[in-house]
Amino acid sequence: MTKPAADQLSGAKSLAQEQQILIAGAGLVGLTAAIALARAGFAVTLLDRGEVERVSDGLLTTALAAGTKQLFGELQVWDAGALNPSPIMQIQVAQGAAGAQRHLGLIDWSVRDSANGQATVHAPPHAMGYIVENHLLRRHLLNHLQQLGVQMVGGFTVTAVTADDFGISLLASDGRQLRGALVLAADGRNSTLRDLLKIGCHRHDYHQTALVAVMAHSQPHDQVAYEYFMAGGPLALLPMHNNHSQVVWNLPTAKADAFKALSTESADAFASLLQQHFPWLGQLSLVSAVQAYPLNLVRANRLHAPRAFLLGDAAHGIHPIAGQGFNLAVRGLNILRQELVTARQLGMAWWDEATLMAADKLQSRQAGRMIMATHQLNALFETNLLPIRVGRGLGLNLVNHLPPLKQFFMNQAMGL
Ligand SMILES: Cc1cc2nc3c(=O)[nH]c(=O)nc-3n(C[C@H](O)[C@H](O)[C@H](O)COP(=O)(O)OP(=O)(O)OC[C@H]3O[C@@H](n4cnc5c(N)ncnc54)[C@H](O)[C@@H]3O)c2cc1C
Repeated sequence: MTKPAADQLSGAKSLAQEQQILIAGAGLVGLTAAIALARAGFAVTLLDRGEVERVSDGLLTTALAAGTKQLFGELQVWDAGALNPSPIMQIQVAQGAAGAQRHLGLIDWSVRDSANGQATVHAPPHAMGYIVENHLLRRHLLNHLQQLGVQMVGGFTVTAVTADDFGISLLASDGRQLRGALVLAADGRNSTLRDLLKIGCHRHDYHQTALVAVMAHSQPHDQVAYEYFMAGGPLALLPMHNNHSQVVWNLPTAKADAFKALSTESADAFASLLQQHFPWLGQLSLVSAVQAYPLNLVRANRLHAPRAFLLGDAAHGIHPIAGQGFNLAVRGLNILRQELVTARQLGMAWWDEATLMAADKLQSRQAGRMIMATHQLNALFETNLLPIRVGRGLGLNLVNHLPPLKQFFMNQAMGL
């Protein structure tokens, strides 16, 4: 664990301290925010209740949208060698049992088709998104933070926050204190800071659980990502390297519990549940434990308080149906970065209400659209009533045959 510098723990008001941005929470969002702001020339301290430099093992992945890759490029952190991304060249979205739909994707976006001029939808001649293993992403971001000289403070569980005219202070459970000009709360869905800042939030329990696992298959996936809306819940398959794919299966919680128990009893029985939906992938086998994530929506009523701003899941923890939580957070922190940089260039107090309010407005508008889309998509496909089933089938077909609509959804998915 990195020990904090002594002058940061004294609580003494020094100019250096009051120019600092304190980022609370070193999840993927906190790490990315620290790089973005350090690159923009701000002095950054990144703190976490655990070890900041921890690198998760396990096989969880994140689908990075093309827009996130673009921003990573601007931040000089996109490095295909280190991230080993697996590109998504095609996305098939369909309703119903997957196996029957392979060549009838109700919505079918393909970079390849558009590149050879067959599709009417514009897509750039590179991937629509990239699957990256979380442990590689985390290690890579940590390397950059070290190179940038970002101060990291581990074992710092925030328990109190006080803002005044000169700065903002965070108090840890062990009595340590950090002081800065601005605090960014990236402490996750159940954010303590959000509560301490007295920012209320809207919560919705989906009564669903996402089962996540990695499967090996004997046939190649051709870099296609599948999202199948089946009775019981959407099933996504995301292409990884070496004939592996990540499964994200959102199910009513009781069913998810039963399937998870089945996977512990017999990995083969779990694999055969999936096998029927993806026959063209050949023999499927489970190569990781099945992990379960209970699903809920948490949306903060506002994103800012005096000298504080919420980022990532602390601001809005959304349904993973479209794999957009991290991508949305990256767009949000980019908005904040631009507002802070502009205010600083104009010689304004970059931590003040006007700057934070402007970033809040822009980010809330963007997040509102994404929350609405994921929430409605989930509601639409949760029900199995016949008229709704027919209606959503028609809706998907309509999207597939109307290029502007198709383009709109593709841009949303790509984060462009
Ligand atoms: C099944 C599933 C699949 C997903 N797939 C995708 C995907 O493909 N693409 C995508 O874009 N998004 C995806 N997401 C969403 C994405 O994983 C999250 O949006 C993102 O990881 C949130 O990161 P975060 O840093 O905001 O929060 P967290 O990862 O929760 O990090 C919060 C950090 O704050 C620290 N902390 C908490 N409390 C305190 C405290 N009091 N004091 C100090 N530190 C504290 C914690 O230790 C932790 O390190 C998925 C989510 C799920 C559940």
